[in-house]
Amino acid sequence: MMLPLLPQDMRFSKIGEQLSGGSGIETLMEDLGQALSGKHPAPLMLGGGNPAHIPEIEAIWKQKLQTIANSQDLLRRTLSIYDPPRGNPSTLEALANLINTVFHWNITPENIAVTPGGQTAFFLLFNLLSGTRSDGSMGRILFPSIPEYIGYANQAAEPGSFTTLRPDILQTGPHQFRYSINLAAVEETKDISAICLSRPTNPSGNVVDDSTLHHLAHIAQERGIPLLIDNAYGKPFPNILFRDVTPPWNASTVHVLSLSKLGLPGTRTAFIIGPPKIAKAVQSMMAVAGLANTNIGQSVITDLLTDHSIIPICNNIITPFYRAKRDHALAVAQQQFDDHLPYAFHETDGALFLWLWLKDSPLPAHDIYLRLKEKGVLVVPGEPFFFGPAAADWNHARECIRISFAMENSVVERGLTLIGTELSKIYRSPSP
Ligand code: PLP
Repeated sequence: MMLPLLPQDMRFSKIGEQLSGGSGIETLMEDLGQALSGKHPAPLMLGGGNPAHIPEIEAIWKQKLQTIANSQDLLRRTLSIYDPPRGNPSTLEALANLINTVFHWNITPENIAVTPGGQTAFFLLFNLLSGTRSDGSMGRILFPSIPEYIGYANQAAEPGSFTTLRPDILQTGPHQFRYSINLAAVEETKDISAICLSRPTNPSGNVVDDSTLHHLAHIAQERGIPLLIDNAYGKPFPNILFRDVTPPWNASTVHVLSLSKLGLPGTRTAFIIGPPKIAKAVQSMMAVAGLANTNIGQSVITDLLTDHSIIPICNNIITPFYRAKRDHALAVAQQQFDDHLPYAFHETDGALFLWLWLKDSPLPAHDIYLRLKEKGVLVVPGEPFFFGPAAADWNHARECIRISFAMENSVVERGLTLIGTELSKIYRSPSP
């Protein structure tokens, strides 16, 4: 007689093991969820990627939801029908028009596909573009500058699908530095099927300058491979950018825009804008994996895309809001951190984070994170942002932590003060 199978004997596929084996992003989302759930004493939450709750912006969502609730037709379209897998045709049309007006590109809905958030967009794109091809050759995604977004690290279904490069590190002030992409190293990297970067970069707040990005776009076009640009914080929305940039566009660029950092992460809505072949492939993958997309984000945003009011909303409310938060956080850190400590922040040109480099840190970042958590302040240790071959044996990868400045100023102040105090102790004597 066969014994019944025990649950722990259940077997997963290789892909299942790869995707369910735990990741930095899962730990981050768990920590964030626990801290905000109220089950445990809420620490000072400087760890997550949650956007701020900006009252003027929340008022816009409220008004849009009321408009939807007051119209039987809109309500049905939002809650009670399946959209086509590519997305709502009116939303796609409105986004194409907006992009053509703002950037003077010449795109149509054929260039766009909706996904349930940028995270899913990259999952689909990476697995479309990397891994073993039908002729047996292997496609690899190149991340030209790590640290990069923690959420990419575990997304490839096939091991070996990612390759990475170290940037040059430029010291730009007594307590300030920036990363710079090594273009010669990119040129030398062969056998790649796409190049990918976030701009602004999560975690560093770097905004790769136009000439470097246009150079990358040129390399990608010459090789006939996509350049994937993650605009989670970028242009035209949410525009959490503190320097002006012009996004590149050619036959092989793919931009991913998301509604999350506008203040709508709960709607899970993003747009891939790229060559029709890629938009079509993403549409097909979405149909298989999800049938259709969520409608609510598209319903809330479409009018703002159609009349272009999303642009002044971003430029006049969102950008200045986060600029002030960044300035405040840097001023507090400067005040609270001992000037003699060898710390440096990456120049924050965009996004929601200070990226702190603790040079020659006596403790790895993960230990510092645990120590800070114990004291009641939650940050994100840097190690999981350094992935792929370039991360190996790089001391810098143990010396950084990410600190969000999106929370209320009082939380940021108390958090940074605690971090400053703890760092002084750590540099004096690493053991608690
Ligand atoms: N890309 C970057 C750089 C991010 O920081 C995030 C979220 O924090 C995402 C993508 C995914 O965002 P979402 O799936 O909410 O659009």
